[in-house]
Amino acid sequence: MSLEGKVALVTGGSRGIGEAIALRLAEQGADVAVCASRSLERAQEVATRIETTGRKSLALQADVADEEAVTGLFKQIEDELGPVGILINNAGINRDGLMMRLKLEDWDAVLNVNLRGAYLCTKVAARPMMKARSGRIVNISSVVGLRGNAGQANYAASKAGLIGLTKSTAREFASRGITVNAVCPGYIPTEMTEGIPEDAKEALLAQIPLGRMGSPDEIAAAVGFLASDDAAYITGQAVVVDGGMVM
Ligand code: NAD
Repeated sequence: MSLEGKVALVTGGSRGIGEAIALRLAEQGADVAVCASRSLERAQEVATRIETTGRKSLALQADVADEEAVTGLFKQIEDELGPVGILINNAGINRDGLMMRLKLEDWDAVLNVNLRGAYLCTKVAARPMMKARSGRIVNISSVVGLRGNAGQANYAASKAGLIGLTKSTAREFASRGITVNAVCPGYIPTEMTEGIPEDAKEALLAQIPLGRMGSPDEIAAAVGFLASDDAAYITGQAVVVDGGMVM
């Protein structure tokens, strides 16, 4: 599963699942750029840890929903590390609320980061990948994108949208040697899930046949596989990593 000689970008790689993915790809031999929306300091900490493994790294601040910022992000990575051969669209936010109370600004914010962000990054990443006739794109979706969730219409729509984006781009890019897959995590404790009330956490846990929450490393392992040559014949898939919650 060696990624030696490859350059990866993990959006939202400053913490949580993105941080685990960035470290995993570096362990497999890739040079890894991590971008965060705000905290450059945390992205820099991840980059420093990557550098201790002997790989090159770059910490960047960019809002993935901003077209100009995304163009600048890829330009800087290309200048300093080389063209991105592995794109992990991981950046994501939630702004939960029941549909009848869901504010338009919360709908737009979530769709903009989670879906528009992946669209923008994919579009910029794909051109050099097409030229190189190789590339890997992994979109971090969610089990919520497969089965919906009360109180998360915006988030579920964005994550289901990512699966549509994955399958369409997988079909479009296949002839150029680029694979596109989605990973759908179940319930993974991170700063994103910190705010879930205890009783809701208990109820979630009761739905998981393996009887426990997942770890960011368990998501990163699936991403590391999909990013590697071992997964060359897998494209257009939504790989569920959820302890059996959705089956
Ligand atoms: P997190 O909140 O800990 O991390 C989110 C990351 O995204 C941060 O690094 C943040 O800086 C970055 N980010 C947010 N907005 C951004 C923007 N506009 N531009 C660039 N970066 C931005 O969340 P996490 O739990 O690690 O989630 C990572 C991904 O996994 C998300 O897409 C999330 O929807 C998905 N996911 C998480 C879970 C879970 O249970 N934690 C389950 C399913 C899917």
